[in-house]
Amino acid sequence: MLFKPIMWIKKDPEKAQVFWPSDELKEKAWLNDETIYKEAAKDPVAFWAKLAREGIEWFKEWDETYRWEPPYYKWFVNGKLNISYNALDRHVKTWRRNKAAIIWVPEPPDEKERVLTYFDLYREVNKFANVLRSLGVKKGDRVGIYLPMIPEVQIAMLACARIGAIHSVVFSAFSGKSLKERMMDAEAKVLVTVDGYYRRGKQVNLKAEADKGVEGTSIQKVVVVQRMGIDVNMVEGRDNWWHELMKNADDYCKPEVIDSEDILYLLYTSGTTGKPKGVEHHTGGYAVQAYWTAKWDFDLHDEDVFWCTADIGWVTGHTYGCYGPLLVGATMLEYEGAPNYPQEDRWWSIVENCGVTVFYTAPTAIRMFMQWGEEWPKKHNLNSLRILGTVGEPINEEAWLWYSHKIGGGRCPVIDTWWQTETGGTLINSLPGIGPFIPTVAGRSFPGTQHEILDESGNPMSVGEGGYLVQKGPFAPGMLRNVWRNPARYKEYFSVYGEKYYYTSDGARKWDALGNIRLTGRVDDVMKVAGHRLSTAELENAITSHEAVVECAVVAAPHDIKGEVPVAFVTLKKEIESSDKLIKDLIKHVDVTIGPTARPDKIVFTSELPKTRSGKIMRRILKSLVRNQPIGDTTTLMNPESVRRLREEVGYEE
Ligand code: ATP
Ligand code: MG
Repeated sequence: MLFKPIMWIKKDPEKAQVFWPSDELKEKAWLNDETIYKEAAKDPVAFWAKLAREGIEWFKEWDETYRWEPPYYKWFVNGKLNISYNALDRHVKTWRRNKAAIIWVPEPPDEKERVLTYFDLYREVNKFANVLRSLGVKKGDRVGIYLPMIPEVQIAMLACARIGAIHSVVFSAFSGKSLKERMMDAEAKVLVTVDGYYRRGKQVNLKAEADKGVEGTSIQKVVVVQRMGIDVNMVEGRDNWWHELMKNADDYCKPEVIDSEDILYLLYTSGTTGKPKGVEHHTGGYAVQAYWTAKWDFDLHDEDVFWCTADIGWVTGHTYGCYGPLLVGATMLEYEGAPNYPQEDRWWSIVENCGVTVFYTAPTAIRMFMQWGEEWPKKHNLNSLRILGTVGEPINEEAWLWYSHKIGGGRCPVIDTWWQTETGGTLINSLPGIGPFIPTVAGRSFPGTQHEILDESGNPMSVGEGGYLVQKGPFAPGMLRNVWRNPARYKEYFSVYGEKYYYTSDGARKWDALGNIRLTGRVDDVMKVAGHRLSTAELENAITSHEAVVECAVVAAPHDIKGEVPVAFVTLKKEIESSDKLIKDLIKHVDVTIGPTARPDKIVFTSELPKTRSGKIMRRILKSLVRNQPIGDTTTLMNPESVRRLREEVGYEE
């Protein structure tokens, strides 16, 4: 048997804070009627077919909406479309032609913003699609994209989609070595990169990294965007400047007719639990889920300015920093640089200056801002905001409330979206015009999708109980269709509970009879203390609710008598000093909020927790530290020095 139900000691749903949408939110929202959930559940396939017709313009309608050939499934079989046509051509035919598609904010505060209308973006994408063709890129070829947050990244992605090439974006803060691994795996033909970019005021020479990533791979041509004008090495016959190729490119490229199940892109997961997986997303289903989740989750209207802060290197950047908002015809904001450059209020100054209305970020960023102090957002008028979102990790109650109040002025709901690289789009969250919004509870399954929480034997859990989160078929249209060149890994998702269930590897608790779900951390991180199973999120939530604490990660350490005991790694607010008294206080705090069973065996104060480059806490590393085991693959780690510091400060051995 794999696992037992997780023990839940804390928090009676009756006592939780529950928020509902204001009349204003409700009135404006695309969705404000509960019945959507029931209607969708009656026949999810028919529901998605209706959404696919309404949201996407198809060159040819599909013959069959959903086909399940376990463990594979297809959506909109034989349907033909082009996602770049849907994101651009469709809007250019309407008044949206002159609407801002992208407002780009460069990092240097004295450099001017760049606004690309839908027509501008359309023209650039057409031209770059022709450039790619001229470099020999054909339908099905892979194109690597190693670009920072500049509009050329969306242009390159959409240009690939226009000609049916498969893009594989690699986060620009990854090293040349990581780029190379991914390019080899994808067997890419062309790489699009940049001379350099700004990060916290410094110039980063990305071309030098790109060169390391290209060497010895199948990449034949490299296109280099000139962002900085710095001196870079250009290899004769291989490297070309973007602006030179674009100068002579024709401004129309007929969109390729793409099959619904043709691959749109490959993208690697964050690598929180181990080696990243090359997730494969196909065109039709992904387009439909991207469109409707962007529209409904963030309630995007024409006058909104939507800012998703995620880097394009992550799936959140793909779906909500490119495809989703553009399919809907929204205005997106894109910011090049660091949140604290030149000062800790940069994000809030952008929100104020550009009148951002919908803002989507990660718990890790929120906790960072909490640590920097509320004086920074306070300097700015944030009244334009109406909806806030988060993604990436369970959000603790303190951070949720801080976000809602200090950023959202108490009027903005926090849409806590649970999803994964594998799922392509959001799946579990509350909807702005329907609610409820409950801190630490993500919400319900998106209409037309179904999640269950199962125990070890596959029995559904009752309200209040915790177990293992699965998605039940028909699987959402945007879900992965394979793991690139690794079908065995793909099959694992459908092997834990059999082919009817996609296994998420996340723990969850059934919150109420309405179907609200609380995420409780990764299944690997569940602890067994004296026979009781405890979730990391639960204990972390209790510790972070103490006023001195900003962030916390709990892992299990082996114990002779109890089997396992929790060890808590804690980051304190900047004005607070660590002390023995504080340790006692925190332990008492856990006793009161959860109970003595959950009491940490040890509390370690640290200035920084090890995180992935997407900002997620890497408990796997902490777990190895407390066990004195080798820490394994750290290529996806953002701050490797935090591990060394922890070793020094805490005395964990290598
Ligand atoms: P890998 O699969 O390589 O270990 P990863 O799981 O971190 O990396 P992503 O696909 O970026 O890769 O992250 C998805 C995971 O992030 C989810 O499975 C879940 O653990 C966590 N997550 C995302 N959003 C939420 C949320 N709103 N609440 C709780 N957890 C979340
Ligand atoms: Mg994962």
